[in-house]
Amino acid sequence: MSWNWVAIPAEDKSYGFARDISDRKQVEEQLLYSAFYDSLTDLPNRAFFMERLQTALHRAQREEGPPFAILFIDLDQFKVVNDSLGHLAGDQLLTQVGLQLRQCIRSRDTVARLGGDEFAMLLENIQHPENAIPIAERIQEKLSQPFSLHEQELVTSASIGIAFSHDQTTGQPYASLTDLLRDADIAMYRAKQQGKACYAIFDNRMHDTVLTRLPLEMDLRRAIDRSELFLCYQPILSLQSGKLKGFEALLRWTHPVKGFISPGDFIPIAEETGLIVPIGIWVLQTACQQLRQWQLEKVVGEDVKISVNVAGRQFAQNDLVEQIQQILQAADLPPENLCIEVTESAIAENLNAVIEKLNALKAIGVQISIDDFGTGHSSLSRLQSLPVHTIKVDRSFVHNMDRRQQNREFVRAIVNFAHSLGMNVVAEGIETVEQQLMLQAFCSEYGQGYLFAHPMKREDVVNWLRSATPDTPEALHK
Ligand code: C2E
Ligand code: MG
Ligand code: MG
Repeated sequence: MSWNWVAIPAEDKSYGFARDISDRKQVEEQLLYSAFYDSLTDLPNRAFFMERLQTALHRAQREEGPPFAILFIDLDQFKVVNDSLGHLAGDQLLTQVGLQLRQCIRSRDTVARLGGDEFAMLLENIQHPENAIPIAERIQEKLSQPFSLHEQELVTSASIGIAFSHDQTTGQPYASLTDLLRDADIAMYRAKQQGKACYAIFDNRMHDTVLTRLPLEMDLRRAIDRSELFLCYQPILSLQSGKLKGFEALLRWTHPVKGFISPGDFIPIAEETGLIVPIGIWVLQTACQQLRQWQLEKVVGEDVKISVNVAGRQFAQNDLVEQIQQILQAADLPPENLCIEVTESAIAENLNAVIEKLNALKAIGVQISIDDFGTGHSSLSRLQSLPVHTIKVDRSFVHNMDRRQQNREFVRAIVNFAHSLGMNVVAEGIETVEQQLMLQAFCSEYGQGYLFAHPMKREDVVNWLRSATPDTPEALHK
């Protein structure tokens, strides 16, 4: 903050002096305010909170004060609001959340905004960590009531981590503020992992899982630059003719120390941290360029498609459609050769934003598949209104088809249902000839699975193509 000094005329010294004092007082008050309060929400800020917390911890350590609890409150998917409705709407939401949080505490407690979408509470005189639960529940309830932003109604939720001033096993207060804050953060992290609108009380066992996850997150941030990520390609074949329909691009990570890390382990981290956005763009670019290269080398026909998985989080990017268009142009690949795979749960999470973008992608010629179909509780009536070309039946249903009647009937019903909507079906995870024959009998158009080929590195794809396809459907008869 700059200090504007104004010279006062000599004949009016006394007035000037008085004004000088009141101006100075005002500026001092302002400085004090901005040092300890957050100007957006008017709540105490991080510095204020830390001071209060330090005092409470000192008193607990000297046995002069009662035990207490702290709550770390992090809004779920705040970034989506910011990205889709704009920063102004994001600010309004934070202000309204601040007002709601104030209503959840008692007069002796403190609620603060730590920064971004993170808030914290200090609950004084709490005899047992469980006594903080009703407050966490009250917060969830308050946040679940609709907020109105720009004539739109919006509900939000938060993940809440709870830490208690005293170790539960030794009964001793924390030795340092840093440790207490770290454990509240770990509990919050755990709550986030459990899903939206959850809370978790810190427990010593949480340390281990977080200690393995955090370094992974940091390494993942560097993985693109260090070229540790690469794609494998798994063929998708016509079950009727054995012809190659396309490839699904599947992401792989070779960690410099830990070696191969499965996508099941790192994609959820990439989604949670937002890293999936730059990674997803890289996947789209690499996959489109690769297919174009194979086309130019006449390794595959012009009608072969490349399927790319796009995570729910990527649909929150306002310019996703433009980015995909640019990637296609840069790779010189027709949009009809690209197929976007999106899961049912990603659609359900952010219905309107996803449908809008899928419609725009379909309009420019890009193909759309629903991935892992059958696992995401999508309502069948909703499916009717989605701009989808293909349904991919989840491999968990295909897996036991030859042994379990129930799975078999389910798959048959999905195929019939998809056909009634004019959609094609890809059956995922075909591992046995029996499964393949059943799917052929059900008239599923396409199939993908270890029976035909595992996901392969790009250099292995060419050899596989030479031995198995396009017109010699040996893969189907292996
Ligand atoms: P998905 O999109 O359903 O991909 C199919 C998964 O099934 C792949 O696992 C593939 O290796 C596996 N699979 C194929 N055939 C068989 C089979 O016969 N038996 C069995 N047991 N499995 C089979 P993968 O490569 O481990 O990928 C797992 C998931 O990670 C993918 O499931 C997808 O959801 C996600 N994923 C992979 N790459 C990306 C990516 O680039 N972006 C995003 N957002 N997600 C990705
Ligand atoms: Mg997929
Ligand atoms: Mg799948």
